Amino acid sequence: MNRNKFIKISSIAGLGIVALPQLSFTDMLQDFTRDQLIGKGNPDIEGASYTQTMHKETKAALEKMKAAAAKDAIYIEVVSAYRSFQRQKEIFEGKYTRFTNQGLAPEDAINKIIEYSTIPGTSRHHWGTDIDIIQAKVPKPESVLQPKHFHGNGPFCKLKDWLTEHAADFGFYEVYTDNANRKGFKYEPWHFSYAPVSKPMLQAYKKLNLKQVFTEEKIKGSEHFTEAFISKYRSENILDINPKLLS
Ligand SMILES: [Zn+2]
Repeated sequence: MNRNKFIKISSIAGLGIVALPQLSFTDMLQDFTRDQLIGKGNPDIEGASYTQTMHKETKAALEKMKAAAAKDAIYIEVVSAYRSFQRQKEIFEGKYTRFTNQGLAPEDAINKIIEYSTIPGTSRHHWGTDIDIIQAKVPKPESVLQPKHFHGNGPFCKLKDWLTEHAADFGFYEVYTDNANRKGFKYEPWHFSYAPVSKPMLQAYKKLNLKQVFTEEKIKGSEHFTEAFISKYRSENILDINPKLLS
């Protein structure tokens, strides 16, 4: 069974028409390679520019959602979509070098980085299924990705309300929800995931040996990732997300 077929079937299942054939879940997981899961190449990811590059199924669903929002005079602008392993490695290692040069101990530098950035190989942006979106055609604040802009009188609050009501109809879900009991990454009202592709990818991702990935990819600072650190990062930063994206 190829993955596209699986995605179509899972979309149908999502509508309540259960049509799964006699295939084990493991068969489906084999449709994703290690490299696809860590952002090192995926033939289904397409796009001409940084904000347009994403999984082709994500893009198709996003276009539909954008058109529907535009009818309500809400204009969706993507500020971040697919991000490669290499790009995330540059971000992570740049910060690691800067923080340790400033005198931080490696462990403290790593904990500071992961407040806002992922360890390369663990970003959901590697999958092409996740996008950061804001509202266009409104006065744009200097730093757009801040929760306050999506609430109260913030410039993006109309978008936030619209997404709360309609995003799920197009397969998109907020990942890092505003839930005081949630651990891991902080609340990100701009970050949405296309569930029909990202849910099976997360299930496959859970089978990866992260320690092995970090070592193989020679990530700077990874010699300071203890077993306990990796296990906490996995359960909090990777898996403590919107439950709608978990299974
Ligand atoms: Zn994001």
